[in-house]
Amino acid sequence: VSTWSNVPAGPPDPILGVTEAFKADKDPRKINLGVGAYRDENGKPYILPSVKKAEEIVQSSKPDKEYLPITGLPEFTKNSALLAYGAESDVIKQGTVAITQSISGTGALRIGGAFLARHYPHSKAIYLPAPTWGNHIPLFGDSGLEVRKYRYFNKETVGLDFEGLKADLKAAPEQSIVLLHACAHNPTGIDPTPEQWAEISDIVKEKKLFPFFDMAYQGFASGSTAKDAFAVRHFVSQGHQIALAQSFAKNMGLYGERVGAFSLTTADPAEKARVDSQLKIIIRPMYSNPPLHGARIANAILNNADLYTQWESEVKGMADRIISMREKLYTTLQKDLNTPGEWGHIKSQIGMFSFTGLTSPQTKALAEKAHVYMTADGRISMAGLNGNNIEYFAQSVDAAVR
Ligand code: PLP
Repeated sequence: VSTWSNVPAGPPDPILGVTEAFKADKDPRKINLGVGAYRDENGKPYILPSVKKAEEIVQSSKPDKEYLPITGLPEFTKNSALLAYGAESDVIKQGTVAITQSISGTGALRIGGAFLARHYPHSKAIYLPAPTWGNHIPLFGDSGLEVRKYRYFNKETVGLDFEGLKADLKAAPEQSIVLLHACAHNPTGIDPTPEQWAEISDIVKEKKLFPFFDMAYQGFASGSTAKDAFAVRHFVSQGHQIALAQSFAKNMGLYGERVGAFSLTTADPAEKARVDSQLKIIIRPMYSNPPLHGARIANAILNNADLYTQWESEVKGMADRIISMREKLYTTLQKDLNTPGEWGHIKSQIGMFSFTGLTSPQTKALAEKAHVYMTADGRISMAGLNGNNIEYFAQSVDAAVR
């Protein structure tokens, strides 16, 4: 008998399952709105021109293939911290950000989970928004934290359940950890307003909660990297110590290159040095040191004023295309087709995703009858829509809800 005969089959990943079904469909009208990767106006993967230039710069310097330090490329992490916290931030000026390169956003979250499980001196419970990015739940559980939920989404309004959110954070035990999506909340596309962020900051302070920001979409939400960093910068300016996971998957289109960063703000440079030393101790037995190429590309952009400007305009281009698809979808449903229901949330939501409010049976009907694929919770990737398929998509939604 085999050693593994008792290993049970696990369920397939819900998002990758959508891609499988899409691939198997032979209809030319088929649309995949499941995957969280940007597509251009022809539905094709997009390599940013600034990234192509950055790769040329990296190649022309004929770099070697030596190991990086445990915490990665030092210039990259320095620039990554600058991008998130801003040059004017006290923690940047005082040099108190402990930071490490990570295997994209997921790796950053995992290092953070492991660091908190080992060193956070209070309750090891982490509060996640309901709903949240599906991978947060096993990720923090596997890191050794106890996963709990706070209310986030209001089904009736297809908006933020701000009262529920505040009540749940106020009811959490003091010094619990709270995970916050810095911008472009996945899967809902609903972010707190700046005023609401200020209130959340006050509650976090009052309850001595520890804020852990997941910033997987900086620049991708509004088109401005500074605007999308508002929540992070506001919390830091209010004196909170924070943890931060950054990803360059979406905003630089570096998905498979796996480039990100994890950071903690500390009290002073001596404390930062101690925290840095413990980050190394966590990372070394996990994967020893991170990959080179993506960090070199990201750094070539962040380190070069011209390329940085170009990159910012390309991020804005991606954000603007998505925003224009939101406008178009809203107008087609609400005005042209008079589709039953209220569709204003399509326009007010932000980032890659939209929670349409479509029910699980409706999403099933859309796949079977219209060859339109999305996750069963009714989430669509706006990036999958373009001038060639948006009319057909709107008509299919219209038929599905009638
Ligand atoms: N956090 C959120 C909210 C995300 O949506 C994603 C990607 O979909 C990630 C983190 C991590 O992505 P990656 O590991 O590709 O950077």
